[in-house]
Amino acid sequence: MLLTYYGDLGWWPGHSYEIMIGAILVQNTAWSNVERSLENFAEDLTPQLVEKLTIEELITRIYPSGFYHAKAACIKNLTVWYKQYGYSVQTVQTQPLSKIRDELLAIRGIGAETADAILLYVFYFPTFVIDAYIKRFAERLPVPAARDYKTLQAYFSDNLEQDAILFGKYHILILEHGKKHCKKKPRCEGCPFMNECDFPKRQKSS
Ligand code: SF4
Repeated sequence: MLLTYYGDLGWWPGHSYEIMIGAILVQNTAWSNVERSLENFAEDLTPQLVEKLTIEELITRIYPSGFYHAKAACIKNLTVWYKQYGYSVQTVQTQPLSKIRDELLAIRGIGAETADAILLYVFYFPTFVIDAYIKRFAERLPVPAARDYKTLQAYFSDNLEQDAILFGKYHILILEHGKKHCKKKPRCEGCPFMNECDFPKRQKSS
């Protein structure tokens, strides 16, 4: 239904390292601020460049995204981690998903959502990303799953073919739906889920 309504929205924009950095910069801020930070790198956003930058120089570039001290430290540590794989997507892909997830989660500033976003959008591991948009949408429909990260993730993962492309495109469609219709204050009129969703009915009966 999402695909029919919104069409194919593609993949997270940018090259692999840029996506990795974007996943950190977007924490607690709007994507427009991430874009302003990424513009400060022009065409040069490579792990080799970030390795050379001092923490102060990195902060200057990522300043528009906020929380720049913590995010700069996280980007530096993530880059050190990536270096052990020779900055190679293919080399990371030879490793088990659980190992890479544990390594990412061990980096300060990387939680489950960011780790899964990197695993999926950079390394094409089939792991479903759960974010605030998905939690809200799932709660309103509702889907028969608890609201905690792991249970909700298992609900999607267990009911879908284990296909990274499918997971990524599905996540992006729900994100779009959360921006266009299922916002904090939902715009239910015209929503393609009006017949399936419990939320408008619950509102009328309350
Ligand atoms: S009907 Fe309203 S609450 Fe339900 S999915 Fe659509 S926008 Fe969200």
